[in-house]
Amino acid sequence: MNILPKRIYLFQNLPIIRNMKIFTQWNKDIFKFIWKGNKPRIKYAVMTNLKKRGGFGVHDLKLYFEASALVWIRDWINFKKSKVLTIEGFDLRRGWHSYVWYGKTKIEKNFGNHFIRSALIRVWKRYKQYFYTKTPKWVSLLEANQRRLLGWTNWPPYRDLLKGKAPTFQLKSQVEIQEKYKEVTWLQYLQIKEYFNMDNKLGFSEEDIWEKLIKSEKKLITVIYNRLLEWSTETEQITNSMTKWARNIGRPIQIHEWEEIWLRKIKYTYASDLEENYLKMLHCWYMTPAKLRRMYQNMDYKCWKCKTNEGTFFHLWWTCKKTADFWKIIHAEYQKILKKSFPNETGILLIGYV
Ligand SMILES: [Zn+2]
Repeated sequence: MNILPKRIYLFQNLPIIRNMKIFTQWNKDIFKFIWKGNKPRIKYAVMTNLKKRGGFGVHDLKLYFEASALVWIRDWINFKKSKVLTIEGFDLRRGWHSYVWYGKTKIEKNFGNHFIRSALIRVWKRYKQYFYTKTPKWVSLLEANQRRLLGWTNWPPYRDLLKGKAPTFQLKSQVEIQEKYKEVTWLQYLQIKEYFNMDNKLGFSEEDIWEKLIKSEKKLITVIYNRLLEWSTETEQITNSMTKWARNIGRPIQIHEWEEIWLRKIKYTYASDLEENYLKMLHCWYMTPAKLRRMYQNMDYKCWKCKTNEGTFFHLWWTCKKTADFWKIIHAEYQKILKKSFPNETGILLIGYV
């Protein structure tokens, strides 16, 4: 699909979407195209999930927008693009960190009177709590409160102000801080101390997912996108069809086993029609008589082949007498070709689960 690069270009350069409704509409259009106007047969969460995690890798435009927005937030956090920041924040009274971390957007409405800033901060607010429950160490309280007054270029973050180990961090002495930040006078040290006492109540974040994510300059949007996707599909995972299969083959499948099945299946072949078959099988995609009956009252729910049992997915593919005969032949042939003997089992023959 050629849609994505064009969209990302827009998302990166004009991050001004404040109303998320537009994404619902876009998704509707995309899915209308994918399913040719029919009712979708596979859940949205599965469609958008990564291929290696058992999904179909359809792009979630909303998450791409949010990932592009978070890249901007990174610039607000690390102050590297000072010229852009000067333009973007020309009318702000406080420092960037006061809005990004200390939530001063509520007090100072002026922050939101700006198309780009207000759209970006909304995205950040949505994900902030996923990244941090405690104060991150990149926060610079002097920047947050004194940006206009002091006008420094080098702001000391908590990383350089703290010593000791989690969860009991201590504040370095003024002399220790001055080794790296000569400008810190006793007045600023007192201010640091005051804010430290407040922030220390909440504690400081030890493991920093956000900082790890934004370290790489390469493919930054993809890296962030994948993380957001993980969070958004976490609750509604691929496990739906996994549990179905576990019930069918009569033993539990662990999530890592399931992923292994996926990865192997994808690597098996370059033939897209074979891959399509695998995916349809693993997702129980096919319309069965049992399913059709639930949709249409006058349908016959019996198996098309033996015409006696109920035509469930598993019956049609495995337990039906006629299918079983077929598998017997396949099984025998397999053993002949591979010169190995293995049990005639669903897991092995149908989904490649050993
Ligand atoms: Zn049957």
